[in-house]
Amino acid sequence: MKFIVVTGGVLSGLGKGIVTSSVGKLLESRGYHVVPVKFDGYLNVDAGTMNPYRHGEVFVLDDGTECDMDLGNYERFLNINLCRANNPTGGKIFELVLSKERRGEYLGVDVQFIPHVTGEIKNWIRKVGQDAHADVVIIEVGGTVGDIENSYFIEAMRELRQEEGNENVAFIHVTLVPKLSVVGEQKSKPTQQSVKQLLGMGIQPDFILCRCEEPLEDKPKKKISQFCNVSEGHVISDHDCSTIYEVPFVLEDSNLGDELSRRLGLEVRPPSLLDWRAMVDNIKHPKGEITVAITGKYTALKDSYASILEALIHAGAHHSARVNVKWVETTRIEDGELSVEDALNGVDGIIVPGGFGSRGTEGKISCIRYCRENNIPFLGLCYGFQMAVVEYARNVAGLKGANSTEIDPKTPYPVIDILPGQTSDLGGTMRLGAYDAVLKKGSRVAEAYGKEKISERHRHRYEVSPDYIGKLEKAGLVFSGTSPDGSLMEFLELPKHKFFIGTQAHPEFKTHLEEPAPLFYQFVGACL
Ligand code: GLN
Repeated sequence: MKFIVVTGGVLSGLGKGIVTSSVGKLLESRGYHVVPVKFDGYLNVDAGTMNPYRHGEVFVLDDGTECDMDLGNYERFLNINLCRANNPTGGKIFELVLSKERRGEYLGVDVQFIPHVTGEIKNWIRKVGQDAHADVVIIEVGGTVGDIENSYFIEAMRELRQEEGNENVAFIHVTLVPKLSVVGEQKSKPTQQSVKQLLGMGIQPDFILCRCEEPLEDKPKKKISQFCNVSEGHVISDHDCSTIYEVPFVLEDSNLGDELSRRLGLEVRPPSLLDWRAMVDNIKHPKGEITVAITGKYTALKDSYASILEALIHAGAHHSARVNVKWVETTRIEDGELSVEDALNGVDGIIVPGGFGSRGTEGKISCIRYCRENNIPFLGLCYGFQMAVVEYARNVAGLKGANSTEIDPKTPYPVIDILPGQTSDLGGTMRLGAYDAVLKKGSRVAEAYGKEKISERHRHRYEVSPDYIGKLEKAGLVFSGTSPDGSLMEFLELPKHKFFIGTQAHPEFKTHLEEPAPLFYQFVGACL
């Protein structure tokens, strides 16, 4: 088993997650089984309780783990399903060490960062690789070199190289090479300094990936090579490109795939990236174009809808269409600042995504009504599905004042409710992770998925109340997918509408460039 450790220098937000995914892609496309691991230094056990405004989307894995959105990039680039073990956090590591200490497993010694914490980290990493029968484990260290939060983790990676042998562990350091407009040249000093910091921790990087706006010039490349003890061929340009899916090609242009294979003693093989290339070309040179509105209260931070945006890019690539996004802040609609007509003007379709709390919901309901009445494609995801049920209950089924009890606990018609047996404490009480659903024969969703038994990921607390299913169906709403026992409503649709589909699940968590999420693919098709 080989290990690649990716660290970051100079500043955060360099796109280390994309680099890690892309490096993984270069090896995966050479036939190696690559398993990614992301270490997050925060003391939260998982990302479930974090604010998407600050931290970006909470991504959900099959096993229900709520994690960093980088895991989404790994899955999308590498076509794999990850689990809790792929995202150790400071919180998870310390939880492990402290519970062992309480059980008396350290036999009376004083528990220390070295060897106990670093030891658990190394065990963790090796186990992830062994369990998955990985050829290569690629470990992204969150944060920047020099942070207290990740220092013990980086030390564990140094020890890992010592124990596994230099030929089995490679370090990639991702840094920034800025170009100051006044000077007009790329500067290598920040990179030199951040490599010095890494050297101070006992780690000589094998590759330096330089994030820059334009391709890395020769002069800074030579300087970085000379001052950082890395051959010029291992100083790699990671310049800006128009889509993240092009990054593997940018790195491949510098021969990173072959160089890494050689460095780790892997057989040097040609990559097979033809399908990937075709989709990247479609993204860069689309034939068609649509505009999709996305409603929500986190519109200030696009990262909080990262997977939806990727799902649209993937679906668009397969239709050779650019998908422009128009953000609609629905609080403005309910405050009367913006009319629905203006908000949805020029839009080919609308997505009402997941969400929590009551802010902006009346505006979302108005948008859904507008789509239903004007035959505009609508895709409702989780909260969007629930709001579509509320809208239909109120405006078609005649249940005036219908609502979700999350929004209005006193509603006369609680069409969306917490079902008996579910509790309402925050944290750890949600229906999380992959669940099966059975789709109605001949329905739009069954057609979209091409099968009747499917699995999608979930992250919610509320459900369609069984007390109202009959009434809603009688009024024409079709629940076209349910949990296998038929008790939970998973999909809805309106058969006569151009495209009016909602799902309690989050299909955006399972989309790949090479295989788009079926509902998004059909939705983009309907918009076109
Ligand atoms: N707030 C809703 C619930 O808890 C929807 C959650 C979501 O959209 N992820 O059921």
